[in-house]
Amino acid sequence: MATLTCRQAPASVPDNFAYVIPVDDELDHTPLKPFCWDTTCPCHEDDDAIAAVYQAVQDGLITPEEATDFVLGRLL
Ligand SMILES: [Zn+2]
Repeated sequence: MATLTCRQAPASVPDNFAYVIPVDDELDHTPLKPFCWDTTCPCHEDDDAIAAVYQAVQDGLITPEEATDFVLGRLL
């Protein structure tokens, strides 16, 4: 719990909640991967990170479709 940097823990989490979270898919935000798979995570509304993604679109590095998937955390 101490390492959560992104989303706030819900007020009432069932005791077994942790067991449904893939341990290999911890919330992880890096400059190269600012968006995680958790669609409720506030990172998907990070203006700076989103701006960086769309700058990559402007630069022709990725397509708008890829940018959308990236922001939504739907990484391949
Ligand atoms: Zn996140």
